[in-house]
Amino acid sequence: MLPREMEECLKKIGEPAFRARQVFKWLASGATSFEDMTNIARKLRKKLSESFYITVPKILRKQVSAQDGTIKYLWELRDGNAVESVLMSYEYGNTVCVSSQVGCKMGCAFCASTIGGHVRNLEPSEILDQVIFSQLDSRRRISNIVMMGIGEPLDNFDNVIRFLELVNHPDGLNIGMRHITLSTCGIAERIDKLASYNLQLTLSVSLHAPDDETRSKIMPVNKSNNISKLLEACKRYHEKTGRRVSFEYALIKGVNDGDRHLRLLAEKMRQVSGHVNLIPLNEVEGSRFKPGNVNKFAKGLSELGVNVTVRRRLGADIDAACGQLRKKERSPSNPGKGMV
Ligand code: SAH
Repeated sequence: MLPREMEECLKKIGEPAFRARQVFKWLASGATSFEDMTNIARKLRKKLSESFYITVPKILRKQVSAQDGTIKYLWELRDGNAVESVLMSYEYGNTVCVSSQVGCKMGCAFCASTIGGHVRNLEPSEILDQVIFSQLDSRRRISNIVMMGIGEPLDNFDNVIRFLELVNHPDGLNIGMRHITLSTCGIAERIDKLASYNLQLTLSVSLHAPDDETRSKIMPVNKSNNISKLLEACKRYHEKTGRRVSFEYALIKGVNDGDRHLRLLAEKMRQVSGHVNLIPLNEVEGSRFKPGNVNKFAKGLSELGVNVTVRRRLGADIDAACGQLRKKERSPSNPGKGMV
């Protein structure tokens, strides 16, 4: 709930509106019960706990990368489902990568998140809790958020918008929109809808191929959102929000790493003033795809005048890198391995 909604609820139980701000602040700091809210009178705390509940995710498993200190959390949700998030530390601060759905229905051929299908959308609070509780547990202050975990954020549109409002709220975690990146597999009509909110977040589009033939083979979403439709929406997004769109491109050997892909990608990027974020393909168990040569491809793009960066591979030793997060069953074998 946002403070303005809490105010309404408090009024209904005969309490002053200003209490909402106090409760909201407590929740953002990770309070797990009304009893913790010590600046609120005991009588009201009791009344609140009789009328409302606070969701508290449980850490089912926590793994820390020996290579780079990246932490991967597996959270147990209220209904027994479980999702992962990843906390990465950079020189400029800590970034958490959050999941937006339990599973994913987009079916990208190279991605582990889609294995096992889609179970349900996450509630706004379940997305927010990933930020609050990874900050609390790790004692690392989170300054940036990437919506790049399990799920397709634009397929859970309303809850994602509400999450953004919650996490951005000045009385909450107060994380600025410019510190948030939302990644999508490219649903054109939803990109337009997002543009209408005119948020200052960074939109990142998983392109992965510059031609429809290649893209449709690896990303089913391309069949209803082909590249020209998608890039048109990205152009409109840029025009409306003034924010340049960034394009993710996971390099797959023999699939999208040819010379013709390189040249076509450069051409498309000129059309949309896009920036390319090359991702070294990460291993997914049972997948036939192998990584392409990222540095060579990056050099080629750069020589053609494309603005390009290569994404670091954080947390690969704990399967926390891009595309490696997957829906987990809550099973007795889960919590054990690698737990700290
Ligand atoms: N559904 C959203 C959010 C996921 S973000 C989206 O598709 O953008 C995760 C990013 O990692 C996406 O760009 C995704 O395409 C990419 N990815 C998926 N599998 C990968 C793999 N095996 N190696 C590298 N990147 C991968």
